[in-house]
Amino acid sequence: MTFTATILTLYPEMFPGPLGVSLAGRALREGGWRCEPVQIRDFATDKHRSVDDTPAGGGAGMVLRADVLAAAVDSVADDRPILAMTPRGRPLSQARVREIAAGPGVIVLCGRFEGFDERIFEGREIEEVSIGDYILSGGEMGALVLLDACIRLLPGVMGAASSGVDESFETGLLEYPQYTRPFDWEGRTIPEVLRSGDHARIAAWRKSKAETDTRLRRPDLWERHEGARVQPPSGARRTKD
Ligand code: SAH
Repeated sequence: MTFTATILTLYPEMFPGPLGVSLAGRALREGGWRCEPVQIRDFATDKHRSVDDTPAGGGAGMVLRADVLAAAVDSVADDRPILAMTPRGRPLSQARVREIAAGPGVIVLCGRFEGFDERIFEGREIEEVSIGDYILSGGEMGALVLLDACIRLLPGVMGAASSGVDESFETGLLEYPQYTRPFDWEGRTIPEVLRSGDHARIAAWRKSKAETDTRLRRPDLWERHEGARVQPPSGARRTKD
């Protein structure tokens, strides 16, 4: 089973784009994943091939039509999850990325203009996903972000098999700080413990740094991490999800 990314977009020429270079690019060329951009406009039905129309109720910009989007979605739908890029969606997480990477692939719907006619989310099984609290001009960059995060987890894509497990977010914490040679740079040295060769001490130092840095830099993550530790795993708190 090859991980297959189908991207529904008005700008198919944006793919694979940056995913055609480096590790993702090599994996693509070697058949480690497939990239299939699809032009949404091919599913327009009127003679002007229009994909959008003015917002009901007035206001600036244009809205992508539900009928055209549905035809595009239906043409590629299979057992893969369908994600739509929208700032109104659930924030993308490393946990969701891991689930997607473990499956057969993903279908990504990219918005433009003012976004999607809301009825597409009622008429089709589509997961709304945001990549952060800021506004992009289109969903394509978000799709590239999502796909990059998934592809680096596919078997054989990253060099060292273990280099994924320690990363920020994988443990619910930020990663500890990293250092490399030279030992002395502008009078700043690498923490002594990292040169001690004492693996237990190094692990303890890294754990403590990861915890302190997460607490100071990302109090939101820290709270969730601590919450998960004190809450029973059955998680009475999760009933809202
Ligand atoms: N009017 C919309 C924003 C439209 S931006 C709103 O205020 O919610 C145009 C398109 O860019 C969106 O349809 C979406 O596909 C994409 N986009 C913009 N910001 C995004 C984000 N933070 N996450 C994911 N996709 C985003």
